[in-house]
Amino acid sequence: MKILCFVTIVILEFMQSLIIKNAQLVNEGIIAVADVLIKGQRIEKIAQTISDPHADVLEAEGLFLLPGVIDDQVHFREPGLTHKANIYSESRAAVAGGVTSFMDMPNTIPNTLSLDLLEEKYNLAAASSLANYSFFMGINQHNLEEALQTDPQTVCGITDDGLYFSDEKGILANYPDFLEKLFSRSNTLVALHSEDDAIIHANIQAYRKKYGEDIPVQLHPLIRSEEACVTATKRVLDIARKHNNRLHFFHISTAAEAYLFDYELPVNKKRITAEACIHHLYFSDQDYERLGSKIKWNPAVKSTYDKEKLLEALLQNHIDIIATDHAPHTIEEKSGTYFKSMSGGPLVQHSLLAMLEFYHEGKISLEQLVQKMSHNVAEIYRIIDRGYIREGYYADLVLVNPNTPTKVQKGNLLYTCGWSPFENTVFQSSVSHTIVNGKIVYQQQQINEGVNGQRLKFLRDR
Ligand SMILES: [Zn+2]
Repeated sequence: MKILCFVTIVILEFMQSLIIKNAQLVNEGIIAVADVLIKGQRIEKIAQTISDPHADVLEAEGLFLLPGVIDDQVHFREPGLTHKANIYSESRAAVAGGVTSFMDMPNTIPNTLSLDLLEEKYNLAAASSLANYSFFMGINQHNLEEALQTDPQTVCGITDDGLYFSDEKGILANYPDFLEKLFSRSNTLVALHSEDDAIIHANIQAYRKKYGEDIPVQLHPLIRSEEACVTATKRVLDIARKHNNRLHFFHISTAAEAYLFDYELPVNKKRITAEACIHHLYFSDQDYERLGSKIKWNPAVKSTYDKEKLLEALLQNHIDIIATDHAPHTIEEKSGTYFKSMSGGPLVQHSLLAMLEFYHEGKISLEQLVQKMSHNVAEIYRIIDRGYIREGYYADLVLVNPNTPTKVQKGNLLYTCGWSPFENTVFQSSVSHTIVNGKIVYQQQQINEGVNGQRLKFLRDR
């Protein structure tokens, strides 16, 4: 026993320690100045004043210390689409933006439709990701039995996002019979993209008649319309409520959908949760003229009314979290006529800075921002020991300077695709340091390449 204690003490002595001094901690609804001692991968102590002669010190007076952002919807494109992005490049962009954990979508090549292919993605990330990671198991009409075998403790969930469900190229939200089967049997979280294909195709036909191949991109929100979103979301909601299964809606884009979701239950008691994405909160149909297909997303960026109501619904807890749907394409793939230009764009490097603009404008508090970008994501997925600044939790942290602006330029983008819809935007804040599993991975615009992210772990019951 004595020897064991001695060994433990020696190991602790040699573990790297870091004290973050005098930062303003934003955590669990409170902002307070404190010191944080990190030992190894975890937060050892939070107190008014901490001193430890063996620890490195990071002076952080005037900076806000936030739990690292957890982004539950990214497309890092590996394997198979690495001309657009890869796990290494996009995880570098993520940590530069204060994102310490991400969950990646299954529409890579090959599509992630078997548990073996899923494990291969985890192996890729273990070798190259600077941020913590999880990968969704994909679902389509052929793999229900295998998808139901997904381990809820080591995989974030099951999704159709970015995948066609059927050979007829429809998405899962359009197949109520299959949804019944999936929801009645799944014991893990299911996350869905919700738009009605029949409505979208009818709209496409109508606008094609009028404009031919060259439909103005401004009409994207009328083609992938509010009606298409609301119809599918209502349909999926009805079935999910019947089965009381754990369902998460990705990227809600309209006011009409946002208010369909319950706001009264605390997030960890909800069976159905919803998210808003940065592009739907930040851009509106007023921006198509300036940015064209750079802001072409599915679901589409919609009206200013929708944009404002989404933020309101987020603050009133109808919507629980903020994500990016970071989905890079090359600039060539984003160019050309309406049907040629692909939907999606890169966001993960600036999601926190974009939301901090709303804080500067007095539209969201820092406490709410942290709740929607970290705490609630951890709650929804039941992530173990992350998403909060707590003693014993992993030290996944971001220091933000609210008064040093960041100008987004081609030269400081870390994406493989090399462009951003935010180019030439000046955000009022900057990310000063990002810490992943106790190690500084980003500081003053430099990446520490020696840091490895870890696979996220989850509580069984979701
Ligand atoms: Zn989607």
